[in-house]
Amino acid sequence: MQDQSVPRRRFLIQTTAGAALAVASIAGADEMPISRAVTAEGELESVETETDVLVVGGGTAGVIAAIQAARAGARTTLLEQSSLLGGTTTVGGVPFPGLFHAWGEQIIAGIGWELVRQTVELDGGRLPDFTTPPSRHWEHQVLVNPYLYAILAEEACREAGVRICYYESPSSVQQQGENWQVNVTGPGLNRLVTCRQLIDCTGGADIVGMLGFERLRENETQPGSMLFKMSGSSFSPGRERLDAVYVHGADSSNSATRTQANLTGRRAILEQLRAKREQGDSEARLVQLQSETAFRESYRILGEVVISHEDYTSGRMFEDAICNAFYPVDLHTRTGVRPVQLEPGTVPKIPLRALIPHGSRNILVAGRSVSSDRLANSGLRVQATCMAMGQAAGAAAALAVQNGDSPGNVAIEELRSLLRTHGAVVPSPDEA
Ligand SMILES: Cc1cc2nc3c(=O)[nH]c(=O)nc-3n(C[C@H](O)[C@H](O)[C@H](O)COP(=O)(O)OP(=O)(O)OC[C@H]3O[C@@H](n4cnc5c(N)ncnc54)[C@H](O)[C@@H]3O)c2cc1C
Repeated sequence: MQDQSVPRRRFLIQTTAGAALAVASIAGADEMPISRAVTAEGELESVETETDVLVVGGGTAGVIAAIQAARAGARTTLLEQSSLLGGTTTVGGVPFPGLFHAWGEQIIAGIGWELVRQTVELDGGRLPDFTTPPSRHWEHQVLVNPYLYAILAEEACREAGVRICYYESPSSVQQQGENWQVNVTGPGLNRLVTCRQLIDCTGGADIVGMLGFERLRENETQPGSMLFKMSGSSFSPGRERLDAVYVHGADSSNSATRTQANLTGRRAILEQLRAKREQGDSEARLVQLQSETAFRESYRILGEVVISHEDYTSGRMFEDAICNAFYPVDLHTRTGVRPVQLEPGTVPKIPLRALIPHGSRNILVAGRSVSSDRLANSGLRVQATCMAMGQAAGAAAALAVQNGDSPGNVAIEELRSLLRTHGAVVPSPDEA
């Protein structure tokens, strides 16, 4: 039995075509990479999927990584455990990506910026005036309608030829020569994915952890937040921000700790509502509640380079810098947050090696689990930066497939050139 609507003829073309990039150019936007399914009475459906690049996690970074890999010609599959793209940007209720601009200039663009701009335009919203650096950094964050962002992200995936698999997560990963074999489970389905390149965009480096590569995490982590709106009227997405309660000790490590974070967050909101009612606020109503706690901090990878606080605040130029970052150092604690602004003119940089788990081949990481110390990470974790890392990882993975090599061996100028072709702003070594 064939999986989904893959016609038998295409299945034959794809299994015999060999060269991945040639296959991708044959396949149109809606035509999916190889899969075949076997079902016996009483068994879960079993599906086999062959793809060049497997992106795990369709959140802030993962969506962009998948679109970039597919636009660069790689057959790309995107696994997302939830039912919506966008991760913390959408499901988490934080739809105000920052920061694409620094000191009056655009320092992050590309696919993330394209989606953000499209969302604002279709929603009839307005972009901030970026020409003058604001006194408060968050004034240059872009408020987007999260529902529209998620649908436009799906559209961009579809047009690029990305296969989206909602409700699916890897249960094991093995290396088979130069390929990965990934066992994936979803409701009613087992999927065996064979791929050349993996991109871990889970926000907690889950796949890197499954493979046994070293990850970093301190005993104390920043609180998570559960987002909601309590008011007498309705909430207007894309125009206003939600309220938030801190969830101290929020831990995204596994389903049990995530459950605990959700229970704690919702209980705090219930207490707030009851308190308002008891104080005589008869208008108080819960009009919006996100479906899960959003996590600020989890595991980071130990990469081939660890971006330090000093690297971040000095805007250190790395020889393999592939994107910019921009945000104050922004560490939330039990007593709140006091952002520490960067010195005027400073634009931090991210090297490709910070996306590569130390000692690994054929796997990249993008998003908040980038290899960095805790203080650097508190600034690097923001959404525009995660999107830029996602795009860089998607491009590096596609080039690695094309060259039959690991992303760490991709020629950096070739990677920068591909990224620029796809609209990204890439730091130049001449800036050093
Ligand atoms: C409360 C809060 C406020 C913030 N405020 C701002 C702000 O003002 N501006 C800003 O720019 N940034 C802000 N941030 C930071 C920013 O939103 C996040 O750091 C960023 O979105 C993380 O992106 P990511 O791609 O690494 O992870 P996410 O966007 O969280 O994406 C991870 C995705 O992976 C999926 N996933 C996880 N595990 C698996 C698995 N095993 N299998 C399949 N899928 C999986 C998840 O469902 C999710 O979709 C805030 C964060 C929080 C929590």
